[in-house]
Amino acid sequence: MTPDEKSKKLTEYYYLIKDCSQCDLAASRTKFVFGSGNANSKIMFVGEAPGKNEDLQGKPFVGQAGKLLDELLDLIGYKRTEIFIANVLKCRPPQNRDPKQEEINLCSQYLFEQIEIINPLIICTLGKYSTQLILGTDEGITGLRGRVFKRAGRYILPINHPAAALYAPSRFEILKNDFIRIEKVISVIKTGKSDNLMNIEDCSDFTIERKSAEEEKDLKAEEKAICNNIKKPIDENINESISEDTAKDNDFHSEQMGLF
Ligand code: URA
Repeated sequence: MTPDEKSKKLTEYYYLIKDCSQCDLAASRTKFVFGSGNANSKIMFVGEAPGKNEDLQGKPFVGQAGKLLDELLDLIGYKRTEIFIANVLKCRPPQNRDPKQEEINLCSQYLFEQIEIINPLIICTLGKYSTQLILGTDEGITGLRGRVFKRAGRYILPINHPAAALYAPSRFEILKNDFIRIEKVISVIKTGKSDNLMNIEDCSDFTIERKSAEEEKDLKAEEKAICNNIKKPIDENINESISEDTAKDNDFHSEQMGLF
């Protein structure tokens, strides 16, 4: 898929699902929070669910936790325009209660389709819910954070949720170190040199079929090529590539999806 096709496909997908009424959260939401960022990024962050500010603005991580996320991204040299951020749930649970399993079961298909379209090489899962969903485990976040998993050709990096550091500042250092690890993983992938301190755990045996040695070799070469470009989104001017006919839509995309 070319960068333009990818961006178009993601936009079409937004229109397809934005009026979702599969669960009760639809009735109480202000806005459906699809996700935002660069459709061609190789790094995706996945949070839990929209909070009050996200529900009002229709964009993920725009409240206090979002500010902290921006700071941490800045620490490792990334901007929002260089990554894509989505949540497990697209609608705000009332009073920010925890997502219910039934809601996750219904909503996760949207996240999986977003991952399929964006095709990130690295997925950073923020907190328990996204980590358990993406890794297909019910192990707690405390035992998973800071580890690096590989699944179906993607690197999965579980991280504490930034909101946790808001309520317990002592967790900020842990969070900071986890972000520094993201940088390290990128460098390991880029150079192909293993880091003795970093154990990349293959968890493909959870549910996804194993690849043959030949397929693994091809994937490694592909990863290296992708990683050489990892800081540069493939198309930095996605919005410019959309025709004038769709200029109105385009405004809407930038506004609603934050699609760069
Ligand atoms: N917390 C999340 O998990 N997601 C958001 O979008 C905002 C806060």
